[in-house]
Amino acid sequence: MTRAYNFSAGPATLPESVLRQACDEMLDFRGAGASIVELSHRGAEFMEVAAEAEVDLRALMSIPDDYAVLFLSGGATTQQALIALNFAQPGQPADYVLTGHWGKTALKQVKPYVAANVAASSEAGGFRGIPPRAEWRLSPDAAYVHITANETIHGVEFRDIPETGDVPLFADFSSSIASEPLDIARYGLIYGGAQKNVGPAGVTMVVVRDDLIGQALPITPSAFDYKIQADNDSMFNTPPTYTIYIAGLVFNWIKAQGGLKAMEAHNRKKAAVLYDHLETTSFFYNPVARDDRSLMNVPFKLRDESLDEAFLKGAQARGMVQLKGHRSVGGMRASIYNAMPIEGVVALVEYMKEFEVSHG
Ligand code: PMP
Repeated sequence: MTRAYNFSAGPATLPESVLRQACDEMLDFRGAGASIVELSHRGAEFMEVAAEAEVDLRALMSIPDDYAVLFLSGGATTQQALIALNFAQPGQPADYVLTGHWGKTALKQVKPYVAANVAASSEAGGFRGIPPRAEWRLSPDAAYVHITANETIHGVEFRDIPETGDVPLFADFSSSIASEPLDIARYGLIYGGAQKNVGPAGVTMVVVRDDLIGQALPITPSAFDYKIQADNDSMFNTPPTYTIYIAGLVFNWIKAQGGLKAMEAHNRKKAAVLYDHLETTSFFYNPVARDDRSLMNVPFKLRDESLDEAFLKGAQARGMVQLKGHRSVGGMRASIYNAMPIEGVVALVEYMKEFEVSHG
């Protein structure tokens, strides 16, 4: 069996030890005589798995006690719509700062429910950075300000937390959750799908300050009301049990690596290997402003796009897969989430050098 270096943007590479443990436990979950996928979500075995996942995520991310942690299905796209239903009163504005594709998606999701205002956008410049905070036009009575902490397609990441005064800051952390320590208290809510840094697709984590929930619009379906899910430990209805179980294994793996500080050091090191190389060559380039570059998703292009296919083919032959950029931007993208080893990034840079020599 060979496992490639998998640069997929998501669902993405997971630690091999986690996959092996899941494999070992698949038929008989810790003596239960059945697989975890065959056990009731209200039985002792799964209840323990779910409780442990929450305790571990709270510890890893230093989540304050006055925040609820929810494990929900529906993906980040669903939460993007639900935040309007859960937090905005009829006619109340909500501010959106657009720094890439996913911010635009978030805005589109809430348009039917809220007076959404684009407070700032870097779209005119091709989403190559974050609009300066001084230029944001925020509404004083907004329900929240929404940002995308890391834009998975454009490779633009907030490296600092913007100040929004009394209006709570909401952030989509789908592609950077659990990749580095975070000051949760600066946010009203963060959310993120599991399928990049934390596990398989199917569960979305929502971390929200307790005092903000409990005001959902009456049209909100019960399973989408954060207060109802919080009061029911995310088990108002059947949660995605297998995904939560795997996420729990990944949390244990992160703990064993030394927690989020160690994860950040590892992620910074990997990103530096790639960005440093991109600085030394004009054969490849990354279009994003230096201070706003993502540690998780590194888009890069060949100046001569006619070489794209040859580059991808050669990468595949060397055991490096899923490097093709998103169809909306083209070029390449290396997603280097928690579980990508540094050896994968070093191998990629070695290959980039080799390719430049043979095709430059
Ligand atoms: N936000 C961001 C930043 C993402 O990267 C993605 C998925 N790539 C989404 C939202 C949408 O997530 P999902 O497909 O799970 O709804």
